[in-house]
Amino acid sequence: MTQQTWRTAWAPGRVNLIGEHTDYQDGWCLPIAIGRGTTVKFRPSQDAISVITSDRFHEVVRVNTDTVSRAQIRGADSAAAYETGWGSSVVSLIAALRERGHEIAAIEAHVHSDVPLGSGLSSSASFMVALAMAFTDAADSPTSQLHGVELAHTAQRGEHINGVPCGIMDQMASVFGQEHNAVLIDCRSATTQLIPVPDSLGVVVIHSGLPRTLADSQYAQRRIACAAACERLGISALRDANLDEVADDPFARHVVTENRRVLTFVAALRANDPSALGSILNESHRSLADDFMVSTPELDTLCSLLNDAGAYGARLTGAGFGGCVVALADIEGAQVIADEAARRYQQLTKLQPLHFITAAAAGARFLANRE
Ligand code: ADP
Ligand code: MG
Repeated sequence: MTQQTWRTAWAPGRVNLIGEHTDYQDGWCLPIAIGRGTTVKFRPSQDAISVITSDRFHEVVRVNTDTVSRAQIRGADSAAAYETGWGSSVVSLIAALRERGHEIAAIEAHVHSDVPLGSGLSSSASFMVALAMAFTDAADSPTSQLHGVELAHTAQRGEHINGVPCGIMDQMASVFGQEHNAVLIDCRSATTQLIPVPDSLGVVVIHSGLPRTLADSQYAQRRIACAAACERLGISALRDANLDEVADDPFARHVVTENRRVLTFVAALRANDPSALGSILNESHRSLADDFMVSTPELDTLCSLLNDAGAYGARLTGAGFGGCVVALADIEGAQVIADEAARRYQQLTKLQPLHFITAAAAGARFLANRE
């Protein structure tokens, strides 16, 4: 690449159709990549300093790409950007790239995103995946380009270094998404299988208007509860537990039943059975609310309103405690159903819900200049 050439890396956010709080227990999940994502327009810097702007933040991130290390995360150049958290995301990703032995070069970059941040649509995974593609592509060596499972793992490692103990679902969905297909992820083997989504189905996403943070204590507590169940059962992950063994442990029970639901949902997709799909979504929401206790009254209300408005079924998506719900509806009625549920939700709660219909979209890639 010549010094002046601008390139554009793009990576999507995701909506998880089913399989919530299963990824960190080696289970299955079934997200789709969405048409919204993060665009990183970049070119190699003249020196070792990366200078990165984002349309979501005023502060510019300046970081020495050669010397950055975990120890320097807090002491890096542009303090204000580190206070907002986005500087730390960048530095953590660079640390992850270095830790995993990837060749990178400093970049000048502009970040643009149409994924709402902190809404459970995984703006952070799409941001880290696109940025990892940019840093490695800028190194301009035949072996530097990062893709596939290693791209997903590096972006996940960036989140971990940044203090967010997420599973692998978001990054895998962002990397492996395909139009018209959901991505069945086996989180134990980090392998994926594409599952066609019938064109007659519309995926409705409604944001509750409540922010959530994945790194918060509730998420960490659920992970600890699941780890404790594994220890009690002498297994490495709840994927290996059966229902009898976890009957008295609601947290573990959710994970075990949710894994089953993912596989039944896949069968219902293959059979093009929308009522079965809807029932499974509703069961998943009940399990997340009653057993795993990660719902809120607002998310419960949104799911009920979507069912009342004619959706096949609805559930909270993402870690919970706010963020979004996902519903399936007949493609022709999906917009009316979403509008109706959002309108009634606004009347009841005075919250302004962002809502949209989405379809399964393609995963991370470099865009041609005109795209
Ligand atoms: P989400 O559910 O959207 O992934 P997170 O809290 O995990 O929510 O991620 C949001 C964080 O990811 C932001 O605070 C920032 O650090 C980073 N991020 C995501 N998108 C952008 C962007 N367009 N520009 C800068 N930082 C971003
Ligand atoms: Mg995130």
